[in-house]
Amino acid sequence: MLKIFNSLTKKKEYFKPIISNKVGMYVCGVTTYDFCHIGHGRTFIIFDVIARYLRYCGYQLKYVRNITDIDDKIINASYQRKECINIFTNRMIKYMNQDFKLLNILSPDVEPKVTEYITVIIDMIAELLKLHHAYISQDGNVIFSVKSDINYGMLSKQSLSFLQFSDKIKKINTIKKNTLDFVLWKTSKNNEPYWNSPWGRGRPGWHIECSAISRSILGNTFDIHGGGADLLFPHHENERSQSMCVNQRIYANYWIHAGLVNINNKKMSKSSDNFYILRDILKNYDSEILRYYFLSTHYRHPLYFSEENLKKSSCSLIRLYRALQNTNFSDRIIYNSIFELEFKKAMDDDFNTPMVFSIFLKLANRINILKKEKNTMQINKFASILKSLGEKLGLLLHNPSDFLKNISNYTDKQIQEIEKLLEIRNIARKFKKWTTADNIRNYLLSLGVVIEDNQNETIWYDKKQS
Ligand SMILES: [Zn+2]
Repeated sequence: MLKIFNSLTKKKEYFKPIISNKVGMYVCGVTTYDFCHIGHGRTFIIFDVIARYLRYCGYQLKYVRNITDIDDKIINASYQRKECINIFTNRMIKYMNQDFKLLNILSPDVEPKVTEYITVIIDMIAELLKLHHAYISQDGNVIFSVKSDINYGMLSKQSLSFLQFSDKIKKINTIKKNTLDFVLWKTSKNNEPYWNSPWGRGRPGWHIECSAISRSILGNTFDIHGGGADLLFPHHENERSQSMCVNQRIYANYWIHAGLVNINNKKMSKSSDNFYILRDILKNYDSEILRYYFLSTHYRHPLYFSEENLKKSSCSLIRLYRALQNTNFSDRIIYNSIFELEFKKAMDDDFNTPMVFSIFLKLANRINILKKEKNTMQINKFASILKSLGEKLGLLLHNPSDFLKNISNYTDKQIQEIEKLLEIRNIARKFKKWTTADNIRNYLLSLGVVIEDNQNETIWYDKKQS
């Protein structure tokens, strides 16, 4: 049975949806003011895998991922480019979709744009005002009052008094009654885009959009709320607070936060040079390598991005494709294999994809042993299991030979020669002819081929990919 680490309780809990076979999941999406970076790639691959696994478990999933297509950064970026805001955001959304498609991130079931939900946002702000959870500031903005919610701080596990003195909110804002109070409706300045509201021309604040959109599509209470770990405070704290104040119900039952991407031990930041956009990485690496790399660290842990580690992931993926090469994996008989049970066990344990990858590598080793024994039926059976389990995570979708050819600098003929030499080396090792074995290893190394002797097999890879 599936267990999920719930950020709200800070515990792994058995997953029980509100309606037995249905799941509602809301994930905070992209603010479309620039190209997507690798942090976006990691977060949305993680939720893509979670969505795929929930469906594999038999749940009827409604996956909602919003698009923030209006905010200060978008307004500034479109002004800088002298581009109309709609044309600008549509262009950015198009780029996001291209990147996500390349990464095999399936589209969510509903992908609401904030600008299409202004009416429901205005309705929710009006309810908050009526219930005295919000007030209108001197400059006409509608502001949420955190003091009006005794449960504020429960998600991020910080007390209101602590938060008020934290560095994050040192900026004194005399317009707000409390430094933690946040804007629900922002008055638009001249030339800024606006919508008419009972409080004049303006636009919604960031936090209210997710509360209003999720209620409109998934209802007052839904099963899973997700997003990047950087959204826990203040975005998710604020979302949860305003939703529970209006709805008088629990907001989301399970909160899932995807770990951040760190570069050189620092949080990735646009202002410094430790910043990678997805399409630059995807120019040099197959998208499955990046997907495999992101999933090889547990989703809750920070990922320390380096091209060296990316190359290591590429080697593991090559091992899997090599095992699948020259097999017939089209067999779609449902095997009650121990491997599938192990896969379920790992995924049921808070989506433990690194554990799943160790199962994949075990399967690849098994296939390689069977290849030596020339046991075609068993080879095809285990290759089919590996292929079908890989597909469940959105991996191993390429034709193995095509993948290996595209990724390798060697021709088919060279690969055959390398494999022949490896066979000779293995025989030499078997008869303890170490000098011969070492000579072959050194010769291959001079050609750029690295050999790795594992328990059951010897694998090789292109030095340039390692
Ligand atoms: Zn959100």
